[in-house]
Amino acid sequence: MTKAHVIRAYILALYIINNLVSIILTKFTPWKDIKTSTSLIPFETLSLDIASKLYTDTNSIKTASSDFGKLFQETPSGVFYPSSVSDIARLIKSSYASNYPFKITARGHGHSVGGQAMVKDGVVVEMSSLSSGVSVCWSESLGYYCDVGGEVLWIDVLRTAMEHGLAPVSWTDYLYLSVGGTLSNAGISGQSFLHGPQISNVHEMDVITGKGDFMTCSKTVNSELFYGVLGGLGQFGIITRARIVLHKAPTRVKWIRMIYKDFDAFTKDQEHLISIDNNGPNYVEGSLIMKKSSANNWRSSFFSVLDESKVNSLASKYGVVYSLEVVKYYNDISITTVNEELDEMFKGLSFETGFIFKKDVSFVDFLNRVRIEELKLQSKGLWDVPHPWLNLFVPKSCIQDFNQRVFIGIIQKENKSSGPFLVYPMNRKKWDARMSAIISEGDDDDVFYTVGLLHSARNVEDGKIIDDQNKRILELCDEIGIEVKQYLPQYYKTKEEWMKHFGAKWSLFEERKAKYDPKMILSPGQRIFKFI
Ligand code: FAD
Repeated sequence: MTKAHVIRAYILALYIINNLVSIILTKFTPWKDIKTSTSLIPFETLSLDIASKLYTDTNSIKTASSDFGKLFQETPSGVFYPSSVSDIARLIKSSYASNYPFKITARGHGHSVGGQAMVKDGVVVEMSSLSSGVSVCWSESLGYYCDVGGEVLWIDVLRTAMEHGLAPVSWTDYLYLSVGGTLSNAGISGQSFLHGPQISNVHEMDVITGKGDFMTCSKTVNSELFYGVLGGLGQFGIITRARIVLHKAPTRVKWIRMIYKDFDAFTKDQEHLISIDNNGPNYVEGSLIMKKSSANNWRSSFFSVLDESKVNSLASKYGVVYSLEVVKYYNDISITTVNEELDEMFKGLSFETGFIFKKDVSFVDFLNRVRIEELKLQSKGLWDVPHPWLNLFVPKSCIQDFNQRVFIGIIQKENKSSGPFLVYPMNRKKWDARMSAIISEGDDDDVFYTVGLLHSARNVEDGKIIDDQNKRILELCDEIGIEVKQYLPQYYKTKEEWMKHFGAKWSLFEERKAKYDPKMILSPGQRIFKFI
């Protein structure tokens, strides 16, 4: 027998053993319908208890292959339903230790719009199968805070905190998003100017890195991981617990909208409102109202029928008007003073005479306002549709130009959907530069703007047309020198584009990736690093 014969016999034996193991495992585990020969995952390297939580049934795969955007699809090899944090650590360790590492991504609530929580030929970790819950605590050094699992939705954080008369200070407009999902981006809304984004209001996190290591991190312990993960687009680890700042919650809010026909006056007033140091608003946003805004718009139910027709006729006259949205929190004790405070705050603002509209609602109803619109749209079949969104940070110095060239020159002129289209300012100093999150450049300006073009499309074809419009907007900004940064980025295709996005932070971002996820296993759906 020659040496070649021995090697051939050895390979044949290995092949037979491998297949036998596959047949046995496929018979007795939930992923029995997987075709191991075509899968890129070396399933035989997984321990049985991990393999038993990996599913390949049609429903699991279908859900994990889609997101809120409905325009992007990627099919994973399997969906992992962890019952504990250590399950996730063991899954990642299996990949990291393997000669053939497989890609892994956490799926919070799948509310990305560009496939960021998807993975082709890898494993999606369905975070909702954990049930760590929310626990509210107090300490001398931190005051009130809550410990929440990365999979928990913000609505559940709110509900539990409110049982104690407490609430987080920084929010997103919509609360059915996971804590891990928003902390991987930033988590912004009308409170960000005052308290910073959600990532500025975290004391501590537990993270499982791309090596499968469980690490607790904070500003003082493993601080590099802490700052890396905040706004880190899921690149350095899976967040399994976050310790979130809580304050005493108000019970009610005064919710006001003022209408402007002049964009310059609108932004000046927004900037004035977010600059008030004492007793100012608790929330400031703004949006476009265009001629013939249809019912397919989350914001539509703020106005009464009468007020809506009044605002719409102004929008018809000018093509587009701007709605400044302000909220002031109050409680039973401050009820007598809140109206005076508002009168004082609104002195000198230049909204159109007679175009101020007020509502008084509970704090929870205000925070959960998009849910009410969601349920209405769902009942009309208008929620589960393609969402070709474009979210941007725009330098303050360019916002007038952006209004002319994009809002008026493209959005209003082409009139492809009714939005909502958001535009509101934030204070740069509320964002810690050590975090991975990227905001618009321009150190000279204390303020920058966020713009959300939150389109809904009737079908995929229309969605693609709007998606093309988004790309044109990015190209135009590039051409005319408006240096926007994508928030929830999805349109970068090359390494050069990512390097430009991260600017001076790119080398640190790369170093952190090499340290915490050297095999590039995590969150490939962001399309930043090439999987090795
Ligand atoms: P997913 O889409 O599941 O995941 C997003 C990314 O985070 C993926 O890369 C994923 O791998 C990663 N990830 C998920 N969980 C974890 C984890 N535990 N650890 C590490 N990485 C993780 N954003 C705002 O800032 N402000 C808003 O007002 C706002 N409003 C929205 C309204 C609606 C209706 C929708 C659909 C989205 C809105 N968003 C808003 C965007 C939203 O914050 C992001 O899309 C967010 O990522 C969605 O959270 P998710 O739990 O669905 O994350």
